[in-house]
Amino acid sequence: MSDVSGLIQKIKNLAEGKNKIRLMEVCGTHTVSIFRSGIRQILPANVEFDYIDKAIFYSAQPDFIIATFGDMLKVPGSKSNLADESAGGADIRIIYSPTDCLKLAAENPDKKIIFLAVGFETTSPTAAATILAAKNSGVKNLFFLSAQKLVPPALKMLLEDPQVKVDGFLLPGHVSVVTGSDVFQFLASDYKIPGVVAGFEPEEILIAILNLLRQIYEGRAEIANEYKSVVKPEGNVTAKKILAQVYEETDSLWRGMGEIKKSGLKVRPEFSDFDIEKIFPADVKPCEKKSGCRCGEVLRGIITPPNCPLFGKKCEPLHAVGPCMVSVEGICAAWYKYSGLKNGKYND
Ligand code: SF4
Repeated sequence: MSDVSGLIQKIKNLAEGKNKIRLMEVCGTHTVSIFRSGIRQILPANVEFDYIDKAIFYSAQPDFIIATFGDMLKVPGSKSNLADESAGGADIRIIYSPTDCLKLAAENPDKKIIFLAVGFETTSPTAAATILAAKNSGVKNLFFLSAQKLVPPALKMLLEDPQVKVDGFLLPGHVSVVTGSDVFQFLASDYKIPGVVAGFEPEEILIAILNLLRQIYEGRAEIANEYKSVVKPEGNVTAKKILAQVYEETDSLWRGMGEIKKSGLKVRPEFSDFDIEKIFPADVKPCEKKSGCRCGEVLRGIITPPNCPLFGKKCEPLHAVGPCMVSVEGICAAWYKYSGLKNGKYND
């Protein structure tokens, strides 16, 4: 028996005859890995329509270049997306790291480069390091449109939502590399909810699930780290220091979840020369929610993607209505690809 099938058997034995347990994986990579491995989230590109509308506004300005990760291209704004704007002539460049923007700025001294700084604790330190490098070397044509989010405040908000029922969290390995596992201790101490930091291989996820189930059935609530090879209790101290030097916490809007206190990052005033919204505010009207998209409930674990009436019908990866269907790690995209459920039916 392989390690994986041995772990599955242990989980089955442990869960047999017990009440249904609701576990929530926090990150999309876990969702994809869970589906891929046939075992049966909250972190897609969590950006509001308004953010994409602002990026589109800047892309339409003469002499502006938008620099972004590829998975932002298809994220819908209220009327368009960046892929369509690029096809229409906007100068939008795919980059692989925020530091690529320094080269882009040097190669295009007559243009303004705007980096779309979205993401979580995993990528934000590199954006912060890029701002520091730009300031230290006197770069004047590089700007950031920031919408970075922090994971712990979102988990706190979920646990305070009476509609959300969670018995344990599969905590995100990549985010925890930066934050450390200790940052999640409040789940156990304040809410009596266990959490386990997990790697991304099927075996690592199963080990974490087994740990969670044992805690739940034994009435314990602890924060365990099953990804010790890369995650330390204190996290990456250097990355956290750079992040704190450049950014400060701010209230932030989460799609479908509303505003969450201190759940976002904004550039500190001493780095405001790099904040495009300070230098050149976008003339964008707040947009209304698109009808039918239930990303908020999907992200809070209240419904699964097939419960959204648009899933697999109006909303598919090539014609995404909401952000959960966009990135390969979006929860609706993962369900669409791996569950075999389309138009309300499972494929053979
Ligand atoms: Fe939103 Fe599409 Fe998911 Fe429905 S299926 S919740 S519209 S992303």
